[in-house]
Amino acid sequence: MENKLNNIINKSRYITKEGEVATYIPSLGKANSTDLGICIADMEGNIYKSGNYNKKFTIQSISKTISLMLALMDNGKEVVFDKVGMEPTGDAFNSIIKLETIMPSRPLNPMINAGAIVVSSLLKGKDKDEKFSRLLNFMRKISGNDKLDIDEDVYLSEKSTGDRNRAMAYFMKDVGIIEGDIEDILEVYFKQCSIKVDCIDLAKIGLFLANKGIIPGTGEQIVSEHITRIVKTFMVTCGMYNGSGEFAIRVGIPAKSGVGGGIMAAVPHRMGIGTYGPSLDDKGNSIGGYKLLYELSRELNLSIF
Ligand code: GLN
Repeated sequence: MENKLNNIINKSRYITKEGEVATYIPSLGKANSTDLGICIADMEGNIYKSGNYNKKFTIQSISKTISLMLALMDNGKEVVFDKVGMEPTGDAFNSIIKLETIMPSRPLNPMINAGAIVVSSLLKGKDKDEKFSRLLNFMRKISGNDKLDIDEDVYLSEKSTGDRNRAMAYFMKDVGIIEGDIEDILEVYFKQCSIKVDCIDLAKIGLFLANKGIIPGTGEQIVSEHITRIVKTFMVTCGMYNGSGEFAIRVGIPAKSGVGGGIMAAVPHRMGIGTYGPSLDDKGNSIGGYKLLYELSRELNLSIF
């Protein structure tokens, strides 16, 4: 398998030159645009890896799948989906436009920034620190990596430049979708996006979803099968933002990308996959990671459709 992965990395690396690293969060601009790595964690406990699989990067939007699981466990479906919808948008992940035009007024889904900020506002905890530490501990548990922590530099960079997210959050407070202190809620959101991971961590989180919320090996059910099904469905319909339709046709695997360059993918009953390539396409998806998943899906027949 690792030979296969090496081949796929070698034949895909050229494409990283066709994209660009994100710079709207200034600290992300420091990434090496030609990095490309992959890790597969399968149900039998095997870990296969290749390329820059152990480079650390920030999880960014991939964290939205994890906060959604915790918010659903904390509040139940009715409360969460009263405040955030279930439909793809066709707009960019940070788009603001539909917040005012869609009725009832609420973000269309939890994978766009506005929806994810609502989800973060729903996490339980006595204050922002407890909310974030519950989320971090949950992430540590499902990835099996108790060392996960934030990249302070990226966190501060996003906090000082995240005015579009700030604007959305204040707007949503005005129309009654969000309650509480907006700066506290954004602190939780910016911190969750700044958690440092590598391809192995993402592959293990993907495997956890592929295995219906059970930690493989221990048999411990952490999240209900139903909640993991909701999350995987969002990954199919909204996980690659406004590129999700094409990704479903070309690759056919539930996946979630982040502007840090990661993609976390879950092949039901089979494996979790983590990829890293900080060079992004025009929709904000890792151009190299997309290509790796495309090649792998063809080679191993991974499409769920
Ligand atoms: N932290 C990023 C933001 O809010 C996450 C976006 C992303 O990964 N697409 O803009």
